[in-house]
Amino acid sequence: MSIAVPAGARLVLATHNHKKVVELLAILRAQPGLAELPDDAVVTAADLGAPEPVEDGVTFEENALIKARALVRATGLPAVADDSGLAVDVLGGAPGIFSARWAGRHGDDQANLDLLLAQLAAITQPIHRRAGFVCAAALVTPDGEEEVCRGEMRGTLVDAPRGTNGFGYDPILVPDAQAPAADDGPGTRTAAELTPEEKNAISHRGQAFTELAPAVAAALLG
Ligand code: IMP
Repeated sequence: MSIAVPAGARLVLATHNHKKVVELLAILRAQPGLAELPDDAVVTAADLGAPEPVEDGVTFEENALIKARALVRATGLPAVADDSGLAVDVLGGAPGIFSARWAGRHGDDQANLDLLLAQLAAITQPIHRRAGFVCAAALVTPDGEEEVCRGEMRGTLVDAPRGTNGFGYDPILVPDAQAPAADDGPGTRTAAELTPEEKNAISHRGQAFTELAPAVAAALLG
């Protein structure tokens, strides 16, 4: 199937989330030759009404590639897709690719978080509550070039949610690397207690997009 794309569009991002577009644009504009990249150069799959492929990969990388390949086929534009989730050490990396539907219903953040906390209730020592948000970001070009980069934000899971920013499992993970606030010292706030800017600066998604950015820049400038 092919979809009409707006005139200024040069890259399509597989998401419904406009915050990801803003983050990706900021990262791309820091690349040589792309400082003037206009806002309308990046469109989302949701803007275009692109159908969502079945994500039947078993890794974050595979699922990111599945989404990006489907978008290149549909639009003829270079496509970037990301797939992410929370990997808990003591659970062998779960919920992993099942993070968004861990409690059964896709996208029920509260139920997912409650179930995970219940599963970990007996594990009280912080050293055994280690986890990381993982993101795989994939670029696929119309020429068939493919690149995937992975970012991870490691931290420790707390036993009760704290904070109202962010989404998903943010209220229960205290990232190791966080901008220390003057009054609370480093390493005490959950990701939901960081400002969006603080979280973006250290996030798994920011890391993966930043590593992928030179290849995306090459696809846009080439
Ligand atoms: P997606 O790849 O953006 O669809 O994220 C999949 C799922 O992973 C989300 O529904 C969340 O449960 C979880 N997740 C991914 N990234 C984050 C994050 O930055 N904070 C909290 N949860 C996240």
